Amino acid sequence: MTLRATVEELVREFRANGRIVIVGASLAGLRAAETLRAEGFTGSLTIIGDEPYEPYDRPPLSKQVLKGWVPADHTKLPRMREVDADWRLGVAATGLDRDTKQVRLADGEQVPYDRLLIATGTRARQWPNPSEAALYGVHTIRSRDDAAQLQKALAESPSRVLVIGAGFIGSEVASVCRELDIPVTVVERGSAPLVGALGGVIGEIAAQMQREHGVDLRCGLGVSSLEGDSGGHVRRAHLSDGTTVDADVVVASLGSIRNVEWLEGSGLAAGFWGVGCDAGGRAFDINGVVTDSIYVAGDVARAPHVLYEYQFLAMEHWDNAVLGAEVAAHNMVNLEPNYRPHLLLPGFWSGQFGVNIKSVGVPPFGDEIVFTQGSVEERRFAAAYGHGGRIVAAVTFDHGKWLEYYGKLIEQSGPFPPPPPGWDQPPDMKPVPAEFPDPRVPTAIPDVVLTGHAPSERTAEFRPRRH
Ligand SMILES: Cc1cc2nc3c(=O)[nH]c(=O)nc-3n(C[C@H](O)[C@H](O)[C@H](O)COP(=O)(O)OP(=O)(O)OC[C@H]3O[C@@H](n4cnc5c(N)ncnc54)[C@H](O)[C@@H]3O)c2cc1C
Repeated sequence: MTLRATVEELVREFRANGRIVIVGASLAGLRAAETLRAEGFTGSLTIIGDEPYEPYDRPPLSKQVLKGWVPADHTKLPRMREVDADWRLGVAATGLDRDTKQVRLADGEQVPYDRLLIATGTRARQWPNPSEAALYGVHTIRSRDDAAQLQKALAESPSRVLVIGAGFIGSEVASVCRELDIPVTVVERGSAPLVGALGGVIGEIAAQMQREHGVDLRCGLGVSSLEGDSGGHVRRAHLSDGTTVDADVVVASLGSIRNVEWLEGSGLAAGFWGVGCDAGGRAFDINGVVTDSIYVAGDVARAPHVLYEYQFLAMEHWDNAVLGAEVAAHNMVNLEPNYRPHLLLPGFWSGQFGVNIKSVGVPPFGDEIVFTQGSVEERRFAAAYGHGGRIVAAVTFDHGKWLEYYGKLIEQSGPFPPPPPGWDQPPDMKPVPAEFPDPRVPTAIPDVVLTGHAPSERTAEFRPRRH
């Protein structure tokens, strides 16, 4: 038997009788499991999830669920096909031993694997002061339980909601509050809502939209502390400019933290940035060397993107979780040269203040922006982002049908400013600075250091930074 034939026989054997473990039972985990079975993997499949529920969909949580249109427990993800698997729900993975190829569970069990998929996503960053975060009426939103609790609080007609942080989710919550006719204050440390994702020019339009809909929007400010009453219910927030806001519901919308703690000591390139992997989903070890048996997909993955100078990008978007999982699952049961790359052009959508916002590409990669179609005053337009004379992203407000056009241009490394399609071009099509905030210097993060001198000893190591 040739070496090639032997390897192919091993892969056949693995597909028939191998053991695959998926950690994270949500969108990426489910889509990967479906793909594995669709690709003919008939071996044992174990799916470990710390939530007690079958995989459900998160985008409706900050939209239809908060409005009371859809109950939080009616968000189960549709199944694309039957998945024959051992579902371990309600139990967290707490450790990974790569030498013995076992995942440790919180209940003490060890689950062996031949191939592992990490799909543990992110969680909401909590309000940093634990006693204030524990006040009744302080919410975050990531899970269906979070959404159910916040929906209940909104249905009780609070006198005012305070939203801390005007990213996509904070802005969607503010929008729902106004739809429900609930007074809402939004406090945003940056210069405008959505500024981190879409830059200051679009952020200013989002700010106008919020104010037109009656949001008390305060930018360039932070919340210093939350104050409760004697019953432990939040009642007031103190702002960094010395003012206060009275509110009986507070939604901390402070971004997300990647769920990587369970990988500590595993020797993988896992940290606050997520889990580093190649464009085929194969995880890197701490030295930046690709592993053969561990894959990553979804919000927790960070992979190089060919269109963005091979920079490592983490894309916390629905499409990325689905396609990344499909690619990783395919590669888990195939051999080179049949590996597939995850070459999705990132995309995002959001509904707020009656406007459908969509983006394609990576807007923060751009340093200039130009309005190419429609009218800003009518909140119905398309704008393109450019970097180095090429289009790198586009955003549309109620103009989503054109997104595909811009997506194709980005994929083809089209010029910036791009040739605008259609007939509704704005009078002024001059590129201006896109006004993204300076990337903040991360602080409480571990350093990666190199140890050893001889090439055979040289290795990387995490050193937690002490303060
Ligand atoms: C409120 C909200 C609104 C959103 N709206 C949009 C939108 O409009 N458009 C869009 O494109 N995207 C949106 N998203 C993002 C989208 O939902 C995510 O990109 C997607 O859920 C990512 O899927 P995932 O499977 O990678 O991660 P997740 O959905 O985060 O799932 C990871 C799972 O792993 C579990 N887990 C974590 N650690 C462990 C462990 N140690 N052991 C076992 N299990 C573990 C988690 O509890 C979770 O169940 C939204 C997200 C939220 C929260």
